[in-house]
Amino acid sequence: MEYKPTIGLEIHAELETQTKMFSRSCNDSEESSPNVNITPVDLAHPGTLPVVNKEAVKKVIMVGVALEGEIADFTEFDRKNYFYPDIPKGYQISQYKYPLVSGGKIAGVKLTRIHLEEDTGTSQHKDDYSLVNYNRAGVPLMELVTEPVITSSEEASKFAKEFQLLLQYLGVSKANMEKGEMRLEANISVSSDDKFGTKVEVKNLNSFRSLEKAIDFEIKRQIALLENGEKVVQETRGWHDEKQVTFSQRNKEYAEDYRYFPDPDIPKLKISEIADFNIKELPELPWQRRERYQKYELGNDQVEMLVSDMSLGEYFDGEVKNAPLEEVKIISNYITSDLVGLGGFGKVSTGNLKDLAKLVTSGTLSSRGAKDTLKILYEEGGDTEKVAQKNNLIQQSDEGPLLEIVNKILSENNSVVEEYKNGKESSLQFLIGQGMKETKGSANPQVLAKLIKELIGA
Ligand code: ADP
Ligand code: MG
Repeated sequence: MEYKPTIGLEIHAELETQTKMFSRSCNDSEESSPNVNITPVDLAHPGTLPVVNKEAVKKVIMVGVALEGEIADFTEFDRKNYFYPDIPKGYQISQYKYPLVSGGKIAGVKLTRIHLEEDTGTSQHKDDYSLVNYNRAGVPLMELVTEPVITSSEEASKFAKEFQLLLQYLGVSKANMEKGEMRLEANISVSSDDKFGTKVEVKNLNSFRSLEKAIDFEIKRQIALLENGEKVVQETRGWHDEKQVTFSQRNKEYAEDYRYFPDPDIPKLKISEIADFNIKELPELPWQRRERYQKYELGNDQVEMLVSDMSLGEYFDGEVKNAPLEEVKIISNYITSDLVGLGGFGKVSTGNLKDLAKLVTSGTLSSRGAKDTLKILYEEGGDTEKVAQKNNLIQQSDEGPLLEIVNKILSENNSVVEEYKNGKESSLQFLIGQGMKETKGSANPQVLAKLIKELIGA
């Protein structure tokens, strides 16, 4: 039987804000001492009142605008009740009926909603006890939910990567998955007819690779169950990264289990009436940058490298300003192959690559000499041309000194010269090679070729 997979993703991202979602506690993911960024509001002590963080709401709206979703006119926050040690209040403040954003699309995937909530604390389980840290409790967290429209692990991963980039471009979240600033969950089902199959939710996916592996694993596992005449159980599963398998964690909970109700302590928001929430302008978005770079005819791999690392793209943009296309391509090459190969920018600074590209196109540096110069710039920094000069990497293009060398080579290679005269083209390459050898690689081969031809022709 033919089975087709269906996947819907849920992505959580911690927002980069000064303070927490409903309190003045610091939102600092780098804080290493436990339980220092807490106020009574985060713990919902009696008599405390949560206050909505405007910056967080604004950031989610920015994402909504970028994705062309519909921004809610009216919105409210709800209490999602459940007990867990890392939930100090006994409930999480989230959004249920009125998410901030509805619909929208990214990387061809239709979105259901994006809402705003607060993050939980973190637990550390020891042998016979556990520790809880509430520094993260109450950190603004956005949740995006897609429609069940994804059909493969590659598509899921491509979508999630594009969303991560969007968050970074907008400055909404660092979205570092290793630090848990962005977390993925995948809902997966398979079906052999046009109805949806029973879905399984896989949590704890903290890399794009785990996402892909978990989806592929689930598709296989579910097909095998159905082929055996068994049923897929609707449940929450975890991903075991070492064993590369999903495993059952708990039965699925349903919305009614949470007893959602509007938080009576938080005012409802009329988004359209708040001027700060009327967002008209956004920074350049990943897909816009991609389109702009494609016009340089750089090749897809290079474009992707420059788009998917914001710092590379920004440096590139600074270097290629007003540069001719030929130099743009050279600059892109140096960034995406040489510097990435060296592991970063090192001591290379603004203007270095722009100058380097100019020196290459003007013939002052050979491509070999330019690479050597770049390596020194990476290690020591400095002015491009001065570094090249100091290290004798400037290409010799002055005809005077080269003429002497060419004369010498021609007189030492009479038979080759004869062959060339008789039409053997490769003899020219040999003679140029001799000139390069004689000058320890510093001669401009184009100038050598010109002089050789002139002298033989005469
Ligand atoms: P629930 O009520 O179980 O939370 P939702 O309808 O809210 O389910 O969907 C949660 C996520 O599961 C969404 O990302 C959605 O796209 C996805 N989803 C829903 N149905 C399926 C299905 N049959 N197969 C795969 N994913 C699904
Ligand atoms: Mg749901």
